[in-house]
Amino acid sequence: MQFDHTFPGNQISRRQALRVMGGASAAAATASLTGAIAADSSAASQRRLVVLNPYSGIDWRTCGRHKAALHLHTLQSDGQHPVVEVVNAYRKAGFEIMSITDHDWNYPNARVEWKMLPPEKASPYPKGPFRPNFPADPTWPWTDYGCSEPRALGMVGIQGNELTFRHHINSYFSDYGVWYTRTGKRAPYGGIVDANGKEVWEDDQLLAIRDKGGLAVINHPGIPNVHAWWERKPLSWYVDRYQKHPAKYLIGLEMANNEPSQYPYDEGLWDQLLARFMPRRPIWGFGNDDMHEMKGARQAFTVFFLDQLTESSVRKAMESGRFCVCTSTKRVDYGNQPAAVSVFPKLAAVEVDETAGTIRIEVADCDQVRWISAPEALEPVADYKTSDRPWQQGRVVHVGNTLHYRQAAGIHNYVRAELSRTEGQDTHRTLTNPFGIGGA
Ligand SMILES: [Zn+2]
Ligand SMILES: [Zn+2]
Repeated sequence: MQFDHTFPGNQISRRQALRVMGGASAAAATASLTGAIAADSSAASQRRLVVLNPYSGIDWRTCGRHKAALHLHTLQSDGQHPVVEVVNAYRKAGFEIMSITDHDWNYPNARVEWKMLPPEKASPYPKGPFRPNFPADPTWPWTDYGCSEPRALGMVGIQGNELTFRHHINSYFSDYGVWYTRTGKRAPYGGIVDANGKEVWEDDQLLAIRDKGGLAVINHPGIPNVHAWWERKPLSWYVDRYQKHPAKYLIGLEMANNEPSQYPYDEGLWDQLLARFMPRRPIWGFGNDDMHEMKGARQAFTVFFLDQLTESSVRKAMESGRFCVCTSTKRVDYGNQPAAVSVFPKLAAVEVDETAGTIRIEVADCDQVRWISAPEALEPVADYKTSDRPWQQGRVVHVGNTLHYRQAAGIHNYVRAELSRTEGQDTHRTLTNPFGIGGA
């Protein structure tokens, strides 16, 4: 199905847009378009409602704030460290939720094979018997890899796997992974096939995660094309995936993987997608350090707001967006304790007041709060293969703790907050998930 994503949603009439977009596709994006058009008239803006609040129902006085690392690599694929070292180091750095997401296409000890580590550093795990889809099976349970049970460490561990042969996708709560003899050791985009010789594409992988009851997040879209194993995708590719696969299992986008060049690309892509899909189909933003080596680790992680720290409550929060993302330009060494983890702006409370027409947030350790809504233009402005800014970023519609969402100009179908704090040369940011705006 073709999805025309080039229409300037805030410049053409709804009827025109529906015609441009065509039948089935049109229905899918009507919600975002409605928001865009509503913003054009002040009468409509007076009827704006917050129709989706990912933080509703949280008791901010009592809820726990739990740091999560949901994208970690170990010796079980191409990482530098044993599972037990990674888990212990992150636990000491205050993380209470973790997912080891080793690449499905690597055998254990890839760095030994590549002569980046001496043979004596090799992991002896897994000790077998191997699972049928070894080596594509997740590094799970951790006790099979010389690590304690997550619960014994006072934390939640999540079964995870990074699907790597096509666009990288993190799979959670499922043992799905792709490795077939016929696939061979070729890098992604090498034309992977299943046991019957049928090609396997991202849609097949996402459906397989769904069928196994798992959740999926599309990873680090902005990695530059300089890697032989990576090929950037056009915006329409992402639109198709989020259109084809509902939020029930394709829950989000890794919009902070924290390479400086990726920041405008990934976050801009997120805003472009939110402009098309909110509030009907949320796409939660995830931030991960994608750690392969603890020295010089990026600081990008999520913070969950939970009544209790259990696997099921973490899963529910992942599905409903009840978390925020912290991301920084500063790097740390999680292996060198105590890790000098930066002080990030704190999201202390969120309050939506429908009568006053406000979203008010309480913050700490924060210099500035910016509210961001849909980009002004939805057409790409440069070549996504070569530019790190191929599309417009989200539009800043207000600065300050309290957003008057019926009065602020430029609010379309969603709004999200960015809390920032400067420390010397570095900027530490905390990003909320999007609030859905509708009701016009
Ligand atoms: Zn990856
Ligand atoms: Zn990764």
